[in-house]
Amino acid sequence: MNKKSRGFLIAVLAVIVLALSSCSSCGRRVTPPQAGKLTIRFLDVGQGDSELIQLPNGHAILIDSGDRGAPTVGLLRRYGVGAVDLVVATHPHSDHIGEMRDVLREFRVAEFWDSGFVNSTRTYTDMLQEIKARGVLLQSPKRGVTRTFGDVSLEVLNPGPAFIDDSPNNASLVVLMTYGAKRFLFTGDAELDAWSEMVTADAGKLRADLLKAAHHGSSNGSSADILDAVRPSIVTISCAAGNDYHYPHPRVVRLLDQRRNAIALYRTDIEGTITAVCDGNTIEMSSEKQAAGGLYLTGDQAAGNVPDAGRKGERRSSRRSR
Ligand SMILES: [Zn+2]
Repeated sequence: MNKKSRGFLIAVLAVIVLALSSCSSCGRRVTPPQAGKLTIRFLDVGQGDSELIQLPNGHAILIDSGDRGAPTVGLLRRYGVGAVDLVVATHPHSDHIGEMRDVLREFRVAEFWDSGFVNSTRTYTDMLQEIKARGVLLQSPKRGVTRTFGDVSLEVLNPGPAFIDDSPNNASLVVLMTYGAKRFLFTGDAELDAWSEMVTADAGKLRADLLKAAHHGSSNGSSADILDAVRPSIVTISCAAGNDYHYPHPRVVRLLDQRRNAIALYRTDIEGTITAVCDGNTIEMSSEKQAAGGLYLTGDQAAGNVPDAGRKGERRSSRRSR
């Protein structure tokens, strides 16, 4: 092949790669997983949690599925997922497991981790039924369980040997993921009591470069003490714009604003799906949308001139909360 046709071929391939990496139906750019790198996507599933982890070896792990009706299956397909090595259901609230049945039906899942906290809801029993019907290996790992997936390791930090109370949130599977020198902390909806137990068990384990704020940025999932223990340089918050619970709580946003020189904040309600790509030494962040109005409190919110995040919503959330 002469130089000219080689150049032409390279140009054609570049156009094809660019076309494949963008979503033609929605016009949004999709960052494809990169070989040899860990790609974590905090999926924009509205009010709920779902994190897709694409491992350096091309395999996939899914933590939570978002609520019933969330576009999770479509997003997994868009990001090129074929099979899932491990699905983690942090706890049995519908905003975390609502789409699990469809995920199990659409993708081959090798193993499933559940918190072991029994819930009587239809969503939860349907999920268990689907796991059983498909012969998926079901486990309820406790604190201290570790697993490796190629170069990536997972360690369970919560729950401990026994549940600390009757709150599904505090039973959340909290998972520390390590790749090279970087650590990522996935927290479900763990509330302050679960955090204090994790600090007592081994505060050093909580240290992470990227923290998914617990419980959608609720004030019962984040505190100055937690940030001091984790010392993240990146915090992500997963919630829907204008959600009924008024997440994230202004107190949490203020706390992160005060530390904005040390912590970069990302929010799915403002920025859509958030992507972290890690080569083992650095983490590169990107998001679907620009945060035109900023990520922190507006002047009116800071002055308390708009309805506060929801004291009402949070009281409700601490009981039957999601
Ligand atoms: Zn939740």
